[in-house]
Amino acid sequence: MRKVTENRGNGKNVGEQFRPYKLLNQQMAVTVEKTSLENRGKIVLQLRCCGNRIVTAKVDGTEKILSVIFCHRRLCPMCAWRRSLRVFGNIYAIIGSSAFEGLRYLFLTLTIRNCDAASLPGTLDLLESAWHQLTRDKRQPFCRSFLGTFRSVEITYNAVEQTYHPHIHVIAAVQESYFSKGNLDYVNHERLMKLWRRVLGVDYDPQVYIEAVDRNEPVGAVASSKIYSEAGGLR
Ligand SMILES: [Zn+2]
Repeated sequence: MRKVTENRGNGKNVGEQFRPYKLLNQQMAVTVEKTSLENRGKIVLQLRCCGNRIVTAKVDGTEKILSVIFCHRRLCPMCAWRRSLRVFGNIYAIIGSSAFEGLRYLFLTLTIRNCDAASLPGTLDLLESAWHQLTRDKRQPFCRSFLGTFRSVEITYNAVEQTYHPHIHVIAAVQESYFSKGNLDYVNHERLMKLWRRVLGVDYDPQVYIEAVDRNEPVGAVASSKIYSEAGGLR
């Protein structure tokens, strides 16, 4: 299992961090343009203007955003990314407080193959039931290890193939002893892939990720870097 020990967004300036989402945002604008929505002109304009002009300044050696305008449309990839950062940043701020001292955290991503629009509701139902099997079935190692979880379902869109990629991000709290040698419930990448494949009931190896958040890591930075790193990996 790989430990998250650094902010992979570091080294990239704000413009570089925004670029992948702006490209997705532009693809979304083209898609909306092709629809028959009555107010598509207004939506397209809002999407095209979203995050276009970013004013930044160096404060104490760190680049900070002074001004930027977002469209806040629910389907805007740029705004969805910003929302994710806020949500995960808040969660990490909470679990980093003294009340949660002594616990450790895992960051998981659980995926399934892309599907078309018609199959999306069924695929989301499958993800949901597979997740419950993985964490509530007492025979499953996670059921014995997880003290609590936060789960977020994300759907990304592949404009070229016109397919959707629903997947789950999870933050799970575990005891320090979870990482001790000899813990039979310890789950590495290979084991997670097999467990997830079984509960999904699919005949291929689904992509999964599992990382331990380093106990010394500023947790907000880990959340940001994790979400950021996904920008280049949208399928
Ligand atoms: Zn937007």
